[in-house]
Amino acid sequence: MKFITDRMLGRLARWLRLFGYDTLEIKKQENEDDTLLALAEKEGRVLVSRDRVLVRKALKKGVRTYLVQSPEIMEQLREMQKEFGISTEPQLDRCTLCNSVIRKVKPEEMELVRAKDYVYPDRLGEGTEFWLCDKCGQVYWQGKHWVNILERAEKLKK
Ligand SMILES: [Zn+2]
Repeated sequence: MKFITDRMLGRLARWLRLFGYDTLEIKKQENEDDTLLALAEKEGRVLVSRDRVLVRKALKKGVRTYLVQSPEIMEQLREMQKEFGISTEPQLDRCTLCNSVIRKVKPEEMELVRAKDYVYPDRLGEGTEFWLCDKCGQVYWQGKHWVNILERAEKLKK
């Protein structure tokens, strides 16, 4: 299942990517609604939105859509579970920032990781694995942030 979200749901889009779902988000632009609808239709994506007007337009065009009720991220994820039965198992296979598929960093590519000022490979210890987004350059690893993600994902299972 693939999704496209409106700009009010950027956080939800990132979580969906974290759970492995191909989720597009588009930039602010003219005719934003039409662009969203056209992409949803062309790429077979479910439109996820908090905008009633947009959802109504989607239904008219026969685009599969879901109107998110809650403003709160954990509730929004519960809604997605209920509506689409999405898996809430965190994966490291998609860039949460740009939606591209990420890959494991090879040992000979560690310079790439060290070059990022937000990563501290020396403090992360031997054997830490890193993942790289070739498209936007973001580096991922299973640090403290990952533990928080796992805890939140665990809560969704209850
Ligand atoms: Zn990326």
